[in-house]
Amino acid sequence: MGEPIHKVDVAIVGGGMAGASLALMLAHFCPQLSVALLEQRALPDAAASIRLPSFDTRATAIAAGSLQLFKELGLWPVLRDYSAPIQRIHVSDRGHAIGASLSTREREESSFEGILGAVIENAALGPILHNALANTATQILAPAQVTDITMTPAGANLCWRTAESAPERSLICGLLVVADGVNSPLCRQLGIEISAVKYQQRALVTTVGLQHSPDGVAFERFTRLGPMALLPLPERQGQHRAALVWACEDKEAERVKKLSESERMEKLQQVFGWRAGRFIRTGAMQDYPLSLSLAKEQWRRNVVLMGNCAHFLHPVAGQGFNLTLRDCYGLAQVLSAVSSPETLPERLDLLQKYGEARQWDQRLTVGFSDRIPTLFASSGYLQQGMRQLGMLGLTMMPPVRREFVSQAAGFGL
Ligand SMILES: Cc1cc2nc3c(=O)[nH]c(=O)nc-3n(C[C@H](O)[C@H](O)[C@H](O)COP(=O)(O)OP(=O)(O)OC[C@H]3O[C@@H](n4cnc5c(N)ncnc54)[C@H](O)[C@@H]3O)c2cc1C
Repeated sequence: MGEPIHKVDVAIVGGGMAGASLALMLAHFCPQLSVALLEQRALPDAAASIRLPSFDTRATAIAAGSLQLFKELGLWPVLRDYSAPIQRIHVSDRGHAIGASLSTREREESSFEGILGAVIENAALGPILHNALANTATQILAPAQVTDITMTPAGANLCWRTAESAPERSLICGLLVVADGVNSPLCRQLGIEISAVKYQQRALVTTVGLQHSPDGVAFERFTRLGPMALLPLPERQGQHRAALVWACEDKEAERVKKLSESERMEKLQQVFGWRAGRFIRTGAMQDYPLSLSLAKEQWRRNVVLMGNCAHFLHPVAGQGFNLTLRDCYGLAQVLSAVSSPETLPERLDLLQKYGEARQWDQRLTVGFSDRIPTLFASSGYLQQGMRQLGMLGLTMMPPVRREFVSQAAGFGL
């Protein structure tokens, strides 16, 4: 943990993917601002090498637009080493012959170095972000749990402690960024309402071993039992691997979690089908309850919400973190105009500018992530017909394909 500090321009609460990414963007684009990041859990030693389990992690599809942002931060070389490129997205409806294959040919400008995106295991992404942060002037406080916030005309006063029984300390900041994740207790404390609609689905996440290489193809498969994504992962110890995310009903998730490894593999193969060849292994399975959860205010005087506490989306289209990264970039761009940090608490205009600038992309991305599972969840004739039409549109009509690729690649703004 760093030296005790008492006052910073910006305090970010939560060192997950959202908080750590914002801290990196601020260090890069707003060096005039002093920034502290408070994370309740201990962080891995920055000097330690990144250790990756082969078969039991969540992975994130990072879109081309986000890779471009990471390149600006100087992180592309290390991300490239730990990720697998996405060269093509194959969208299909299980049980129907029609499928659409989308690549950068649909839209050259949607690609980054010739790829649509890259998939990286969260176990690698976290240390990459935090190792990069350790080389900036950001003051990292971890473990540091924020227990209380008092808003003041000059910003916010935070109470935090290193452990349950440890004495409370305080930190004053001009701007507070809340990035404490979905179901945010800090939003509740600030009286910020969250609207949440449960999908009555859970995301089952596992790593599968494949007989053949996925060859840079990310599969989006819509099945009677819910959408399944299979994302290419880097090979490990000569094993072809892919990250599988299956959004299925709660009861189905309970059933699948009780299966043995071989039964589970059989079940996943049966639901996904054979488009990616034979599954030869699966790892441990984690599950996440799914909802569309949106904060009713994303900013107010001296406060901004970032990441899952601002918007938590259905993961089927792999948009949540990519949207957050664009939010982080938008906020950093706006704050880069602050020449006298002590005036930050008076600059409500900047937060308003940020909010307005991000509205369109957020609306589009939230709508895209919400419509896809709803459309593909139903086995009704009408929805099936619409799905087939949608698939035909993706197959036959270049403008529809281009729009899909553009949104999927994180350039849909
Ligand atoms: C199954 C699944 C698959 C996904 N796949 C993709 C994908 O492929 N592509 C994509 O773009 N997005 C994806 N997402 C979305 C992505 O995971 C989220 O956007 C991302 O996790 C956002 O993280 P966060 O930092 O907001 O929240 P979190 O990861 O929850 O981080 C919050 C942090 O705040 C800390 N904290 C909480 N309270 C306090 C406190 N009081 N004081 C200090 N610290 C505190 C916590 O310890 C935690 O570290 C997926 C999501 C799911 C569920």
